[in-house]
Amino acid sequence: MKLISDRKSNSNTPLTTKPSPKLSPSLSPAAILAHSSIKRIDVHHHYFPSDLKKSKANSKIGWKTPEGNLPWSPSTSLAAMDAMSIDLSILSFPPIPSGSIGKIDRASARSRNEYAAQICRDHLFPVPRFGFFATLPFLDDVEGCLEEIRYTFDQLGAFGVSIASCYGEGKSAKYVGHETYLPIWAELNRRKAVVFLHGAQVPSSTPYPHEFLGIPVTESPNETLKAAAHLVVTQNRRIYPNVKIILAHLGGTTPFLACRVAVLSNHMGCALTPEEILEDFKTFYYETALSAYETNLLAIDSFVEHDHVLFGTDFPAVSRDMSNWYTNNLEMHYANDKIKLQRIMRDNAVKLFTETTNNPLSEEDTPEKEQKGDHDNY
Ligand SMILES: [Zn+2]
Repeated sequence: MKLISDRKSNSNTPLTTKPSPKLSPSLSPAAILAHSSIKRIDVHHHYFPSDLKKSKANSKIGWKTPEGNLPWSPSTSLAAMDAMSIDLSILSFPPIPSGSIGKIDRASARSRNEYAAQICRDHLFPVPRFGFFATLPFLDDVEGCLEEIRYTFDQLGAFGVSIASCYGEGKSAKYVGHETYLPIWAELNRRKAVVFLHGAQVPSSTPYPHEFLGIPVTESPNETLKAAAHLVVTQNRRIYPNVKIILAHLGGTTPFLACRVAVLSNHMGCALTPEEILEDFKTFYYETALSAYETNLLAIDSFVEHDHVLFGTDFPAVSRDMSNWYTNNLEMHYANDKIKLQRIMRDNAVKLFTETTNNPLSEEDTPEKEQKGDHDNY
């Protein structure tokens, strides 16, 4: 595949000033996915704006971003995508659970979204190479989040939103099913939006056990389970059924521990039966980044409908070789079922993103009218 070079030499500089033009049809997820030459879609692909200070963040969490991927620019990803036969990557900002309510976080989210949308616009032709999940301000800033959803969906053509498993520090942290965030879920539900849910890189109450076992290795996958389980046992998964949630890394430990939540949470007072809890866990979508291994793939095959499995790499947080180790496993696992493999690599993502269009508002579809409707259903 021919490498499409960056057209803007400064495209790794966040944009902060110029508002984006109104969303053009060529930028909508449906229009991007209509390109039949797109055969492989990576739904777990990060971008690292220059203000992220990735090396400093790594030292706190016990991770080494491969040196060749820093400083990151779209060219870094394009070269890797071409080497890995990835036609389209859906960019997301790394999951950062800290922040505060206010103008600074709102401006950061806006800047990141403008930057991501600009990368998409810069690489639309001849075949689009990028889509993006919107970054929200600190989630406790509900009004700020709602405004950013409106802007990124209606004007920038976001494929959905990317959120972390929890927000806040230490004991004050809240998981994503917390009642504070329900207006955000209601809005995402109304829009039939896609949410990419990624375990936060937060420490447990003990230090990570070894320098080879930093937070991304041992903690983040459990954070994904905790957030998914929180949405299930609070019943928010079934109160907001139109939201399509992708769990990063095959849900972390979710396929193995969902049955544990089912019986034990019911025992602890959850009103849902074990069967209902499992049913709700099966509504999530699961992407394969850093998790495609025979055991895990057998588990996910037996746990969810096959159209709920998507392809991901987690590049550039990891190297091409690391991503390829998992992709090779995936291809070997489905070597005798090319149709299933093609669905994971492309078709399931196309179906998900085109069925759930992150609907913009129509003229008569006012938020007040819709919110009233939503509450009627609670
Ligand atoms: Zn990631």
